[in-house]
Amino acid sequence: MQKKKCSDESQSELEKNIHAEVFLGPVRITGVKVNYYHVCETKLWLFSRNISLENESDSVAIGKTLHEDRYKKSFKNVTIDGISIDFVKTGKRLEIHEIKKSKKMDAADRAQLLFYLYFLKKRGIDAAGVLNYPLLNKTEKIELNPGDEASTEKDIENIGNIVLGSMPLPERKKICSKCAYEEFCFCGDRIEHKEQRKINETL
Ligand code: SF4
Repeated sequence: MQKKKCSDESQSELEKNIHAEVFLGPVRITGVKVNYYHVCETKLWLFSRNISLENESDSVAIGKTLHEDRYKKSFKNVTIDGISIDFVKTGKRLEIHEIKKSKKMDAADRAQLLFYLYFLKKRGIDAAGVLNYPLLNKTEKIELNPGDEASTEKDIENIGNIVLGSMPLPERKKICSKCAYEEFCFCGDRIEHKEQRKINETL
């Protein structure tokens, strides 16, 4: 069967495999990095150096289940930044949807979605974002206003500086217990971090 052709140029572009990335000098900025920047600078730095310890956690599995249960049939799908992004078309606009299980990482999730909206806007695609919290029965609409654009650009600049700098020393926080880097950050931490500090001082 012949595939239905999209009438809208923006949508047809989205249906291709878009890789949302912005380059700041040698640094590749992606939505995941924007998210990590708002979660933990150490995490951002480790991830950017391809030190990847992320396994599929329970929360990722729950997220997938939520997606399959509630949204699979409603949204179209595009790959942005190596991850699946859902979107629907409302009139002439696109809505980019992210499904979250809780609002715990609200600021990071919002910043990531704003980065995608910023990325799309730079390519002439007008879109709004929606954060969906099915377990809370809530949705939150995200619009990219000039202030958000400025803060996204600031995020991009800060991420570039962090990634090019030395490793930010880990600071224990609430989310560490759920982070895949916890063992790396805090196993024998006093000795290792003193060593890391010495290494940083010589860089
Ligand atoms: S364990 Fe904590 S300090 Fe280390 S990367 Fe994860 S969130 Fe950051």
